[in-house]
Amino acid sequence: MAEPTTNEALYARACAVTPGGVNSPVRAFRSVGGTPYFVARGEGPWVWDVEGRRYLDLVQSYGPAIHGHAHPRIVEAVQAAAGEGSTFGAPTEREVLLAEEITGRVHGCEQVRLVSSGTEACMSAVRVARGATGRSRVVLFEGCYHGHSDGLLAGGGSGVATLGLPASAGVPAAAVADTLVVPYNTVPEIGEDVACVIVEPVAANMGLVPPAPGFLQGLRDACDAAGALLIFDEVITGFRLARGGASAFYGVTPDLWCFGKVIGGGLPLAAFGGRRDVMEQLAPLGPVYQAGTLSGNPLATAAGLASLAMLDDGAYEELGARVARLAAGLASALAAAGLTAQVPVVGTLVGVFFAGEPVTDYAGAKASADTGLFPAFMHGLLQRGVAVAPGAYEILFPGLAHGDAELDLVVDAVGAVAKELAAG
Ligand code: PMP
Repeated sequence: MAEPTTNEALYARACAVTPGGVNSPVRAFRSVGGTPYFVARGEGPWVWDVEGRRYLDLVQSYGPAIHGHAHPRIVEAVQAAAGEGSTFGAPTEREVLLAEEITGRVHGCEQVRLVSSGTEACMSAVRVARGATGRSRVVLFEGCYHGHSDGLLAGGGSGVATLGLPASAGVPAAAVADTLVVPYNTVPEIGEDVACVIVEPVAANMGLVPPAPGFLQGLRDACDAAGALLIFDEVITGFRLARGGASAFYGVTPDLWCFGKVIGGGLPLAAFGGRRDVMEQLAPLGPVYQAGTLSGNPLATAAGLASLAMLDDGAYEELGARVARLAAGLASALAAAGLTAQVPVVGTLVGVFFAGEPVTDYAGAKASADTGLFPAFMHGLLQRGVAVAPGAYEILFPGLAHGDAELDLVVDAVGAVAKELAAG
C-alpha cells in the first residue's frame, strides 16, 4: 500500500518530474490559481481525490466519460479484453465491429481509420484532404481546437486560449504558412488553393458557441464551389450530440470527420473517416501515409464498443432532457444572483459565459474570459464539491451518470457562487 499523500505533496513531486506537474496543460490550475486535485478514483458522476474529498465531476475527462466513471459494462469489457492480450500488430475483429458501428451511425462516412488521439485524427484528416485535392491550404476558425499538430496549432481554443498563447513556440512559420485562421460563424472566401476547411460544427473549445443558422451549410456550399473538402471535427460532438453526431443533428454532410473522446469509452481511441474515394487515398491503397503501432488497440475498441452499445436514440433524448433541465436551472440561478451570464445549450452540450448577449465567436468568448470571474467561479464550485474544468474556455460535461439529484447540486452550488461573485 502506498503511503497516504496529499494534493500538495503529489503536486510538488509531479512538478519535479513533469513540466508544470501535468501531462496536459488543460489540467493545470495556472490560469485559476491553486493546486490541482489528484484523482484517486471515480465512480459514476463522482471523483475522489487522494485526500478522500469527493467531487461531483463535470470535467468527465473533457468528454469521453459520457457514462460516468468506471461504468460496470465498460470495466467488464476492458477486463475481458486485457485477459486476451492488449496489442498485437495484426488486425482484430473488434476494429471491424467499431468501424461498422461508426459508419452505420454517421451517414456519408463510408470508411474510417482508427487512431489513438483526436490530435492524430485531425492531423491525418487534413493530410488526406491535401493528398486527395493536391492542394496545400487549410482554413480553420479562431477559437476552435483541432489538437496540437504543427499545422493546426494556430488561433486555437482550449488550453491554447486559456494560457493566452498566440499559437506555440516550436512551430516553424513554414508549418503554418498554409493555415488560414478566420472568425467562427462567418463563411470565408474559399480560394481554389484551399485543400480543406476544418471546423468544430459546434464550437466547444472557446466555451460553447453554436453555429449560426446557415453557417455549416454555407461552408458546405463554399467548399463545393471551390473544390475543397469540408472536415467536421466531431471529437467533442461525435456521439455526444446525437447518435449520428453533429452532421446528423444539422443535416450537413462533410467530406471527412474526426472523432475521439466518446468513441473510446475512456481509453485512448479516436478515428477519422469519410467518403470511400477520399479515404482510399490512404496507404496501403493510396499515396497518403498514416500509421500507428497502437491504432485500433484491443482494449480501446472493447471500451468504445461497450460505450456506443449504450448510446441509442433514447440515451440522447435522456441526456438532452437532463441538460435542458440543468441549463434552465443554471440560467435562473445566475439571474437570481444578479450575475450577467449566458447559458448556451445545443442539444446535449452546455456551457456558461459571463456575457450580456449570446456569444457567437472567439472575440465574445474572450470578453467573457476577460471579465476575470472564472477563477473565483471555478474555485467556489470546487469548495462546494463540484468540479469543472480549470479553464474559462471549457464547456461543462454532464453525462448519463448525472441524475436529477446531482444536477440539482450543481444548480445550488452555482447559485451560491454566483451570489458571492455578484456581491463582488
Ligand atoms: N478536436 C477537438 C474538437 C477537441 O476538443 C480535442 C481535444 N479536446 C482535439 C481535437 C484533440 O484531441 P486529443 O486531446 O485527444 O488529441
